[in-house]
Amino acid sequence: MVIKSAGEIEIMKEACFIAASALKIAGEVMKPGVTTAYVNRVIDDFITSKGAVPSFLGYNGFPGSACISINNEVIHGIPSATRMINEGDIVSVDVGAFFKGFHSDNAATFAVGEVSSDVRKLLEVTKESLEAGIRAATVGSRVGDISNAIQSYVQKHGFSVVKEYVGHGVGRDLHEDPAIPNHGEAGQGLELVSGMTLAIEPMVNLGKAYVKMLNDGWTVVTRDGSCSAHFEHTIWVTDSGPQILTVV
Ligand code: MG
Repeated sequence: MVIKSAGEIEIMKEACFIAASALKIAGEVMKPGVTTAYVNRVIDDFITSKGAVPSFLGYNGFPGSACISINNEVIHGIPSATRMINEGDIVSVDVGAFFKGFHSDNAATFAVGEVSSDVRKLLEVTKESLEAGIRAATVGSRVGDISNAIQSYVQKHGFSVVKEYVGHGVGRDLHEDPAIPNHGEAGQGLELVSGMTLAIEPMVNLGKAYVKMLNDGWTVVTRDGSCSAHFEHTIWVTDSGPQILTVV
């Protein structure tokens, strides 16, 4: 676990603003007929124009500047010039920016045009489960309080939390301790202290929780083919409560 100084937080705020702006722009250009490679290019151009580097590009060999995952793809979709976004798709974009020595990390799932009421509800509940997780990230609480807040909220609405992939600390490294599962028991795990910066990121399936990886070695999909949503913020744990850093 790493505690950030006030000066380090100021830099993280800049890194987070860049990542949040890139995510917002991705949502604005996402229309039927554009490819995921195009969205990736827009993200990359924006981040580099700010003097930052896409955190994911080359991370463990990942070939894109952002992860772009469509419909039944949960996370880690590889941008492709042959993958077109269609009316009715939901598209998850996960993007981080490395700036002045610090990483940032955020994600959102966008509905492209009209989607079914079930899918719209999935997006709402996933976003709200992130908000519930963030509210639980107070000084003196434990990681399990965040995990349990997310899991309870999702299950109350009849959806499933993905268990294989988790949130994490973020800072000089893209993935720092502690791991933040999206399921767990309240009151368990590491105690939260002021100065921690955490990426909280529920991944929620419309159907069953089970996932598998495609042969490309990256893309994670739902086993039952159901749609999946992903929302993420980088937050700062403070004595006056959690603050979301990935804001525009
Ligand atoms: Mg993350």
